[in-house]
Order: sequence, then structure tokens, then C-alpha cells
Amino acid sequence: MMGQRLTGPCITIFLILAMLSACPTFIRLTSASAPADPAIDVHNHLPRGVTLEALIKLMNDAGVRKTLLMPVFYDGDKPNGQGISDENLVVEFYKEQPDRIIPFLGMQRRIIDRKHCLQPDAEAENLLQLAESQLRTGYFRGMGEFILWHYSYSYSDGEQGETVKIPADAPLMKKFLDLAAKYRVPVIIHYEIDEESLPSLKKMLTYGRKVTIILAHNGGRPDPITWKALLDDYPNLFYDLGGMTRLGHYGYASGEYMKNPIDDGKGHLRPEWKPLYEQYADRIVGIGTDFAHPEVWASNQKSGRYSTMIAVFRSLLSDLSTETVEKIWFRNAEKMFAANTSATNAATGATGTVKTGFTGAEAVHVVMVTALAPIVPLFTLEKRKVELPS
Ligand SMILES: [Zn+2]
Repeated sequence: MMGQRLTGPCITIFLILAMLSACPTFIRLTSASAPADPAIDVHNHLPRGVTLEALIKLMNDAGVRKTLLMPVFYDGDKPNGQGISDENLVVEFYKEQPDRIIPFLGMQRRIIDRKHCLQPDAEAENLLQLAESQLRTGYFRGMGEFILWHYSYSYSDGEQGETVKIPADAPLMKKFLDLAAKYRVPVIIHYEIDEESLPSLKKMLTYGRKVTIILAHNGGRPDPITWKALLDDYPNLFYDLGGMTRLGHYGYASGEYMKNPIDDGKGHLRPEWKPLYEQYADRIVGIGTDFAHPEVWASNQKSGRYSTMIAVFRSLLSDLSTETVEKIWFRNAEKMFAANTSATNAATGATGTVKTGFTGAEAVHVVMVTALAPIVPLFTLEKRKVELPS
């Protein structure tokens, strides 16, 4: 207020502010020592062409402390494929920047298709053996993203994918759950919940009771009531918010199907989701940018989409309590993806009780990447044309 005299604490604050403004070096040092914002990006990918330097710069610019990277191997053996062919690239990234990278064992592979999932053959067994040998190293904090139920999409920036419908309780998936239980790592799964996909999901969640299962993209397309019932029935079920802003198509639609979005279109959480997010704050692993394709990484240089998406997430969660926001922003991810000593124990034959639920590094987690859909009840979801937001 103009003309008011400064007294007591006011004088102290005034003096501190005066000192800070006269000392820009101090301000620079504090903000440069670490990203001011401790966000953890729990749903991102490592396709072809991504360099560690570029990634770290993106993270620094956006205020992201750690990024969970899930390698993409699609056509990694072809000159212009989307994926990489190096199984250990993500580990190399991690070794270079252990405080910034959360390495996952990539599961976006051609072999994880309907045929192999329903009838695992020798090739599938080879993949299981490879996965076990990789988990035995102790570097990997989880496996994913398993693409099991995914509607087709095609967008102007080059992202595209075909419809995939693999029941969640397929025999090969069960074998991966066994592996996840043995090495006590979470699994991230893309599984879009609708009336057709839900029954096999429940069977898988029952089979994997000892495993914490994370569904990507807020479960795909469920309405809040369906989602709440699943969270109540399956304490091993968790979820991430990968791509769930209006900027990411999983936040809005999947193929021709509308979803139950969590974003109201103006950067805020839709009110019907707020009670659920507050009640189940411990089950939301975190936010995620979901850059799965090389084209997205490349176009980001011009668009700044990564930073924008983080900013939108910040706005999206701003109506929640401080405690809930912190859990979603970084605390849950810090606990879930902490260094996993139990993987080493499994490799050396050490025994222990596999715990159910989210108890930090000791927990076994199956992470399913799921996407939220529109406000209509799940079983009345209609197939209708998608109008993408501008
Ligand atoms: Zn996904």
C-alpha cells in the first residue's frame, strides 16, 4: 500500500529483496544448480535419432529433473525405421546421466503382436530370455511400453499407428508378469479400456496381483466411475498421465474414438476427475510427454512442444491440493523408480516376499499406460468422428 511505513518483518523482507536485486549472481547460481521445478517425466520414449545431449537440453529448458525412457525397437534393423537396434543405448544414457534418466527395458517390438502373445513360440521364448538377462543386470527400472490394446491413429506431424487388440491376459503377457514379479520391476502397458477390452484386463490384474500394474495414459478411455471401481478392486493397479493434455492425442481421442479427457480444453482438470485424483493420489505415477516417434522429436526443435506440454501439465494439476500435485509431479515417481536392489537379489537367488501395492523400490509394479476418455459412461462410448483441438 502506498505510503505505509515499513515495520518489523516488512523491513527484513525489504532488505532481503534489496540484497537479492543487487546480487544477480546469487540468483543465477541458485536457479542453475538444478531445475527449479522437480518434475519427473514418467512416460517418454527412445526412438531413432534421439541424442542424450538434446534430451538433457529439453529437460533443462522445461524444468524436468528425470525422464523415464522406454526404447522403441520397431524396424530398428531397417535404414529408415522408427526404432533403434541397440538394446543398451538407454543404459548408456543412464550411465552418462544417472540422475536424469530412468531406464526401461523397451517392449515396443514387432514380435509383441497378437500371434506371439496368444501362442508364444521359440522366438517369443528368446525374447523372454533376453528380457531376463537384461533385468539381471539391475539397470532397468521396469519393462514397457507393452502395446496391447491401441486404436489406430494418424496425425499431421507424422505420428501413426495401427489398431492393436491383444487381450491383456494373453499367455505371453502372463510370462512377462512372472518375470516382473521375479525381478520386482513395474510394467507399463498401453491398454485402452472399453467394454471389449475390460474383461481380459481384469483377468490380467487378478493374475498379476503380486505385481504393480501401471496403465499408461490414464487407462486409455475409461470414465471416472469405471476407473474408480478398478482402482478399488485392484490395489496393484497404477497409472500414468502420459500424453494426457489437450496437446497430446491420448488426451483427447484414439483413432476414431473419443476418450474421456482429463483436460477441460482450457488447461484445467475436468471437475469430475478431481475427487478421484485426490483420493487416489498415490496411484498416479506421474505426468508424461510421450514422444514416441522420431518426427516428434525432430519437430520439437521448432515447436517447443516438450516445454509447452510440461507447462500445460502444470496448469492441469493446479486445481488439486499441494500434496496431490507434489505426488503426481515427482514424489510417486521418485519412490517407484528408485534404484532397484531387488533385481540384483533375484539374479543372485536371494529370496523375499513379493509385496503387493506401492511401497517404493521394494514393490513390484506393472505400469499400464492408459488414456482417459470423455465424460460419457464407458459402456455408452460411441464411435464418432474425432475433431482435434487446434
Ligand atoms: Zn502408449
